[in-house]
Amino acid sequence: MKIYLNGEFVEKEQAKISVYDHGLLYGDGVFEGIRVYDGVIFKLKEHIDRLFDSATSLQMDIQTSKDEISKIVIDTIRINELNNAYIRLVITRGVGDLGLDPRKCPKPTIFCIAEPMNPLLGEDGIKVITSSIRRLPVDVLNPAVKSLNYLNSILAKIQANYAGCDEAFLLDSEGYVAEGTGDNIFVIKNGKIKTPPVSSSVLKGITRDAVVDLAKEQGYEIIEEKLTLHDLYVADELFITGTAAELAHVVEIDGRVINNREMGVITKKLSEEFKKIRKIMGTKVY
Ligand code: PMP
Repeated sequence: MKIYLNGEFVEKEQAKISVYDHGLLYGDGVFEGIRVYDGVIFKLKEHIDRLFDSATSLQMDIQTSKDEISKIVIDTIRINELNNAYIRLVITRGVGDLGLDPRKCPKPTIFCIAEPMNPLLGEDGIKVITSSIRRLPVDVLNPAVKSLNYLNSILAKIQANYAGCDEAFLLDSEGYVAEGTGDNIFVIKNGKIKTPPVSSSVLKGITRDAVVDLAKEQGYEIIEEKLTLHDLYVADELFITGTAAELAHVVEIDGRVINNREMGVITKKLSEEFKKIRKIMGTKVY
């Protein structure tokens, strides 16, 4: 596997960064996880835009244009001759001294990893707990920024592991439903589809937005509003979206069984539509 690192492609074993890199020392960096389906990089432009927004928010100068960053992603897929893959694109503040001052980091570190990954079958539902760890408030470290600091999600994931669950949902600081450790949440009740707004401490997921668009195209009503755990417990259908998770239905949350553990009718429809559009909505590699 060849990895892009600061201007060249190197073998995995040679892909090493400095212990003085602030991405490592402080989580000072931004990243994207991106999928390739049948040689099409799903929503590459949207991922690059979000990456640059994250960097702007952290006052990080990427020093490379969006077109050049997009080319790095495409070249990483090409050089490894991949058709179905998961891409990890990372830009850190770069090498500095042991202090945290970003002004000591003149040049960002850029790397891009791509590994083969086949689309999930989407048949297995997931079991979820609500974490006691709250999602970061928007005025602390806004979850809209996809930074390298994932400790908030990792702490929640540890609780999911401990409870024997696949995923943990986090509430925002007010107690409303925010998101999963690496995915967004959708609730269906009486034919209406709801998802928490960005103000509820959520990352504006690219998959989330794609599913919102296709649900609208299918004629469903989509409402972005603050949701409580009660809304989730009494849902007709409940599912998550994310680059890695794709679209997965929740079969159980905090011991409450959803839709007899079956994937609901609307979720199935959206899942099928998502499978169709993801091979089209993106950047062709070959
Ligand atoms: N929330 C969090 C915390 C995430 O890490 C992710 C994965 N990037 C998502 C939501 C889903 O976003 P996307 O659909 O863009 O992968």
